[in-house]
Amino acid sequence: MRKPLVAGNWKMNKTVAEAKTLVQELIPGLKAIAGVERVLCPPFTSLSAISALLEKTGIGLGAQNMHWEASGAFTGEVSPQMIKEFCGYVIIGHSERRQYFAETDDTVNKKVKAALAIGLTPIVCVGESLAEYEAGQTKSVVTRQITADFNGIEAALADRIVVAYEPIWAIGTGKAATSDGANAVLKDFIRPTMSQVWNATIAQNVRILYGGSVNAANAAEYFHQPDIDGALVGGASLKVADFTKIVEAARP
Ligand code: PEP
Repeated sequence: MRKPLVAGNWKMNKTVAEAKTLVQELIPGLKAIAGVERVLCPPFTSLSAISALLEKTGIGLGAQNMHWEASGAFTGEVSPQMIKEFCGYVIIGHSERRQYFAETDDTVNKKVKAALAIGLTPIVCVGESLAEYEAGQTKSVVTRQITADFNGIEAALADRIVVAYEPIWAIGTGKAATSDGANAVLKDFIRPTMSQVWNATIAQNVRILYGGSVNAANAAEYFHQPDIDGALVGGASLKVADFTKIVEAARP
């Protein structure tokens, strides 16, 4: 059985003081929800303060990105070791990083390997653009991404990976994919590709989240789908009542 996971991607929002307030408001509701792995991914600057607040709550902490090298002359970057001091998770290859910061499947692959090597759970984002979607290229895009992003990763490490299928046209647009459509991408394209990269057992064991305009009203629809194991939530993760309802909806 795949344990549901809901992660909140706060993106570039919240100062440390604001982040602490939001977490203090989230803790009582989230703490009480059993059976769902729940993860908060604030900006780097808040990781230290928030890791202290989350101690003994059962709520996980994740970063939104990291470099793959352990240390060195990489101005502005943050290493796996630095993330591991505070976090159990790291988002890798978010479409905003691929689009605005020139991330490629090659850099995503290096980051996933580095995350696994240090014991972080990578939440690896894949998904097609609007133009690719309209051109009927969803299958070729996600197949290419999954194959390249996980190239050379041993089967023994693979079921620690979490994949987030996030069609770019659904992120922050309010135009969510249908739950049937999203489930079909997971079932027909992503799991079969993972089966080729590794094997059928791993393809069934890896958790796959849906992301893209998930909110308190539509979350349950996604979680009722057999191949969707949770959500990566952007905008709604900054709203206490909404994010709590989304996590509740993921309860098995
Ligand atoms: C995201 O940032 O990963 C995301 C899915 O954003 P939103 O929920 O706002 O569409």
